[in-house]
Amino acid sequence: RPAIVWFRDDLRMADHPALHEAAASGRPLICLYIIDDVTPALHPLGAAVRWWLHGALAELRGQLEKHGGTLLTLSGSTEKLVPQLAKQTDAASIHWHHRLHERERAQDDRIRQALEQQGCEVKAHWGTVLVDPEAVQTKQGGFYKVCGSFWKALQTQAVPEPLDAPHKLSFHAIPKSLLSDARLNEEGLCPHAPDWAEGFRKTWEPGEAEGQEHLQDFLKDAVADYPRGRDRVAEEGTSRLSPYLASGAVSPRQVWAALQKHGAHTEGPRIFLSELGWREFARYTLYHLPKLPFENLSPKFSKMHWRKSAADLKAWQRGQTGVPIVDAGMRQLWQTGWVHNRARMIVGSFLTKHLLIDWKEGEAWFRDTLVDVDFANNAMNWQWVAGTGIEATPFFRIFNPTRQAEKFDPDGDYIRQWVPELRRLSGKALFEPWAAKDEELEKAGVRLGKSYPRPIVDLKEGRDRALQAFRSL
Ligand code: FAD
Repeated sequence: RPAIVWFRDDLRMADHPALHEAAASGRPLICLYIIDDVTPALHPLGAAVRWWLHGALAELRGQLEKHGGTLLTLSGSTEKLVPQLAKQTDAASIHWHHRLHERERAQDDRIRQALEQQGCEVKAHWGTVLVDPEAVQTKQGGFYKVCGSFWKALQTQAVPEPLDAPHKLSFHAIPKSLLSDARLNEEGLCPHAPDWAEGFRKTWEPGEAEGQEHLQDFLKDAVADYPRGRDRVAEEGTSRLSPYLASGAVSPRQVWAALQKHGAHTEGPRIFLSELGWREFARYTLYHLPKLPFENLSPKFSKMHWRKSAADLKAWQRGQTGVPIVDAGMRQLWQTGWVHNRARMIVGSFLTKHLLIDWKEGEAWFRDTLVDVDFANNAMNWQWVAGTGIEATPFFRIFNPTRQAEKFDPDGDYIRQWVPELRRLSGKALFEPWAAKDEELEKAGVRLGKSYPRPIVDLKEGRDRALQAFRSL
């Protein structure tokens, strides 16, 4: 009787406790992935992440093929397909990694019951976090609401050592009809008409091997300078590991272990690990506070009068706000599926404060356009930026986009790269074209309102409007 390994957001061979356990059982394996576009989803797959998934699944299948097996990709209702496959193949056991949200856990419980009734044993492990979210508790037995205290407490726990990829695997024979469908199911993930993914292909190569390479390159080239480099939007000062972590091509325990080995006590690795701490905290918060993606965690914001402006929202989404650093960030996102963390904070503050548009609009747009979208990270960070979270930047702290650009893109390289129509401007005019002299604009070939938009909001007026709305709560 075979053992099924159900891959979810853990698309890798190494440090995969579920695969490891199934392989150790000696049973022939069935490696499964399900694309479920049928069940009303907690977080439907966005277009960008579907593109990523296509590459990540192909890479995982390639790895499994080297061992003489393959990846079976089924499309349809998860709750039907898993018990059905277990029955068809008379599977003795199924192995997976826990999910975090209470609705996902409830679904897993229903599937578990169906499987157990059929005599198929279910084995679940923690594979997408450093430690079990129940293991980190306050002295009173509750959960932490502040990342710093959480991270301190987590570091007293024993983080399990990452597991090596299994050396030897044997596979169960899968009916040919199911296998030919599998490739077709995956093809549906990629954009065809139009094929908008060129910028993604130029920027990314999904998969486990590439993820490990990113980690090693970052340790070699950038971690020492991370405390400075991580805020420079034009530099490659961060690891760009996020899509690999989000899809599970790289596990957080692998990153943790690599950093410990590298010397976690020096400043660069320590600060970098604390960012991994934010990732862990987002997952921990999603586990303990399932309303995180759906409601303001700070209840006073339920009375907030967010503006509804389809035109402003569209200008923001397309990088046509007339504020260069905001447009640069939004265009980097649109073209590559990724945007620098500092730019995420700037565009997020601009949307929720200068435009006074609900953070949920930003969360939804990011969910559709990021290749690294992570349900927990995205929601927690949007609530942080908007000031509506439990631990968040105060609402009245409003980023001035021009000051941010001057500080974190001092030479203007980032703006020039992503907003090329402004590339011949220099100095202050590049950061604030609306305040530049006519001759300056003319010399650089910039015609405000024609070749580049005028700002959709006056920065001072937008700021005052946001402060007033906040005070009225
Ligand atoms: P590095 O600086 O190299 O950090 C390493 C890893 O630590 C990241 O890959 C990520 O897993 C984690 N990390 C870093 N910063 C944060 C953070 N602030 N919160 C949580 N984890 C962090 N990150 C996502 O992975 N998915 C998202 O959907 C997402 N949405 C965001 C939305 C907004 C509005 C903001 C402000 C931030 C968001 N982030 C999100 C967090 C952060 O911007 C990205 O993780 C980071 O930019 C990824 O680049 P990197 O891998 O080079 O980061």
